[in-house]
Amino acid sequence: MSIRISKEACVGCLACTRVCPGSLIKEKDGKAFIKYDRDCWGCASCVKECGFGAIDFYLGADMGGNGTVMNVSEHGDLLLWKVTRPDGTVRIIEVNGKNSNKY
Ligand code: SF4
Ligand code: SF4
Repeated sequence: MSIRISKEACVGCLACTRVCPGSLIKEKDGKAFIKYDRDCWGCASCVKECGFGAIDFYLGADMGGNGTVMNVSEHGDLLLWKVTRPDGTVRIIEVNGKNSNKY
């Protein structure tokens, strides 16, 4: 499995359901869930689309591994990439959306 969706954080906007190239994300009771998680190939489209930090992406061994996850949330022009390690330590990477495509 490459992602997990937090029921608590999901606001049911369904943006993630529209961008998954495999149509793997469905909706039930106003919340998104991944139906066939073994079919997810980790393209991260849904993670980038969810501005509510509800989708955690499991990082590979070269990026932390061992259950380390990353999600993104929007705060105005800022995107906050939050990396959470299995021991609970958190690292936030700030990306200014206005500058990110400058180069
Ligand atoms: S984009 Fe995020 S908040 Fe919207 S339905 Fe998907 S998981 Fe929920
Ligand atoms: S990571 Fe890509 S393939 Fe996997 S659920 Fe998200 S959008 Fe679909």
